[in-house]
Amino acid sequence: MELSRKALSIKASTTLAITAKAAELKASGEDVVSFAVGEPDFDTPQHIRQAGIDAINEGFTRYTPASGTIELKKAVCKKLKEDNGLEYEISQIVISNGAKHSLMNAFMAILNDGDEVIIPAPYWLSYSAMVTIAGGVPVLVYTKKENNFMLTREELDRACTAKTKAIMLTTPSNPTGMIASAEDLKVVADFAVEKDLIVISDEIYEKLIYNKDKKHTSLASLGKEIYDRTIVINGVSKSYAMTGWRIGYAACPPAIAKCISSIQSHMTSNPNSIAQKATVAALLGPQDCVEEMRIEFEKRCDYIYEREEAIEGISALKPEGAFYLFIDVSALFGKKYMGVEINSAANFAEQLLDSKKVALVPCADFGMPDYIRISYACSIDNIKKGMDRIEEFVKQLN
Ligand code: PMP
Ligand code: GLU
Repeated sequence: MELSRKALSIKASTTLAITAKAAELKASGEDVVSFAVGEPDFDTPQHIRQAGIDAINEGFTRYTPASGTIELKKAVCKKLKEDNGLEYEISQIVISNGAKHSLMNAFMAILNDGDEVIIPAPYWLSYSAMVTIAGGVPVLVYTKKENNFMLTREELDRACTAKTKAIMLTTPSNPTGMIASAEDLKVVADFAVEKDLIVISDEIYEKLIYNKDKKHTSLASLGKEIYDRTIVINGVSKSYAMTGWRIGYAACPPAIAKCISSIQSHMTSNPNSIAQKATVAALLGPQDCVEEMRIEFEKRCDYIYEREEAIEGISALKPEGAFYLFIDVSALFGKKYMGVEINSAANFAEQLLDSKKVALVPCADFGMPDYIRISYACSIDNIKKGMDRIEEFVKQLN
């Protein structure tokens, strides 16, 4: 029996696989510290949970329009206008089952077989798999640490071919935690306009910013020409601690929104009706909860960065946003732990999990095999325990 060659070429998400492994070890009684998954540890704020409960009690439990309720689309338009200075009509908004789903829909809506998508590396690992599933070809562009992992014009020029259809952009970035300035964005916008490309702009971490000198700018706000070729992706998973509710959205030119909506109408009908009601409460309700969580993440960011800096042999840029610390461990390659040589980040991560019970993500699947990623979306106590163990592990290398 031959299965789909395309499906067989897709590897399951490493972030989710490592998280599952850590959970399994924990369930078997091991004292594991998990820095693997990027998921806020906070509960969904009370007023948002209540909106979900009310939706159930009021019988809002049936199919909704495929592309989402008008009520939620209006709330998204209001959010985009107030937070990002973007004007959208409800016909340009599609609500989906998480930003991951919005991204997959976007690639399916714009790609023909063989179309190339420029993905700046390091990148969140699902982008390349999604492009492949949609019949496209991921073209990885390796950005440089000295450029804060931002794309340069030269890198774009080198990567662009007659088949290039789109550019992927993520700010704040998973995994680097870096934030694109308006100047960084202008490089991408000018290029996209000049070469007639679409940009998919993933802004899911926009509310989680710690660098006081940086602010989030939405690419589409740079002018009409780039607005007309941008698919803004966002959602409530990270800002409102709503990962399990599964609501994300795309804001884009009406023709693209129509394609996305048609695809979604066949694939999933509509996003969950109850979660849509809760998302309206999240977007239109009080926003103090977002700031309270951001402040907590900022404390963790400062603490974990300080701990990382004190460990000899590993190095990282201070994260400006999101909740990841992206660490170069290549200076340790060649050293041994209990006689076993460390020669890659994958190897580092494996030995660390086996010996010290700390789970983190090695970044080969993010396009950077010399790096590991720590998600610090967990309590300070957990971070302290995990960093103590990493410090001990690195000290024991020889
Ligand atoms: N984009 C990025 C960069 C992410 O890290 C994630 C995390 N899962 C997502 C999109 C998807 O988020 P969700 O599907 O939970 O809305
Ligand atoms: N985006 C999060 C992460 O990078 C969640 C897991 C996933 O979907 O990859 O860890």
